Amino acid sequence: MRRHIVLTGLGVLIAAGALAATPSLLGSTAPVGAVARATATPGADTGQPSPSDSRAAGLPGGALSAVTLPAHGRQPAPTAPAPSTLTGYVWPLPNGRITNAFGPNYYSDNTVDGVRFHDGLDIATFCGDRIVAAHSGVVLAVGRKVDPWMGWIGSLAPSVARRDKYSLWGELPIVIVIDDGNGYRSIYAHFSKTAVTAGQTVTAGQFIGWEGRTGYATGCHLHYGLFSPYDTDRFGLRADVVKRTKLPAWEIARINPILVLPPRPAPRAAPSPGASPSPSSGQPSGSRGDPLVAAADQRPGGQPA
Ligand SMILES: [Zn+2]
Repeated sequence: MRRHIVLTGLGVLIAAGALAATPSLLGSTAPVGAVARATATPGADTGQPSPSDSRAAGLPGGALSAVTLPAHGRQPAPTAPAPSTLTGYVWPLPNGRITNAFGPNYYSDNTVDGVRFHDGLDIATFCGDRIVAAHSGVVLAVGRKVDPWMGWIGSLAPSVARRDKYSLWGELPIVIVIDDGNGYRSIYAHFSKTAVTAGQTVTAGQFIGWEGRTGYATGCHLHYGLFSPYDTDRFGLRADVVKRTKLPAWEIARINPILVLPPRPAPRAAPSPGASPSPSSGQPSGSRGDPLVAAADQRPGGQPA
């Protein structure tokens, strides 16, 4: 009887040890659940540590400890600050016009409640224009292998393997992900060339790269996205895109950048006949009715933009 108890206790210890070791054993396999979303999938394809991911995890024991253990003196997982509390944002393409708003959009890869949804803001001027940081922060990732910092919920290993196998990395947009230092990350996509490196500190309004059309884009533009690794809401990725790209089926929900960007003068271009300002947003809305022409995300591609 005594031996049985000892063995049982040992079994528990072994099980606990296996559980604690699971994240490192699994390597690129991302944990699931709310805290896993906070960790936002460590880099499987780049191997680069993320300056914010260890902090984002919030707990030294990582996701599994937070999920499975009671809160004996542990800090609660951080939550996403309300967008209304965010300050210090500037327009990343100061003279651009919005060519594709955040929200329901048939041509988008993402879904919200089953409806196709554009998860960022497309802003355009001209090829080669200078894009600036929308907020001060620390650059987390630059280039095409940025998925570990994009808030995917699930393993990136299958998509990485597919891209390696078929040499697909060149199809992706060139992206910069910046930790805004306020619980949110800014995503900038479609650069022709970038001017910052991972780990670099930037200030709001600082030049970070040149407007381009890398990835799937109908023309030069900036796709600007904003999300909190602590957000517990999620957006879907269209099933057909998941099947083709082998990306995770979910990403952490994005917020509408319009909520944090300052008001600005109406675009110089005359609004089309019949266009009327939005009564609720207080933002110029003439561009929101623009057809999906140049300078927007092109088509379903399973890409971050
Ligand atoms: Zn876009």
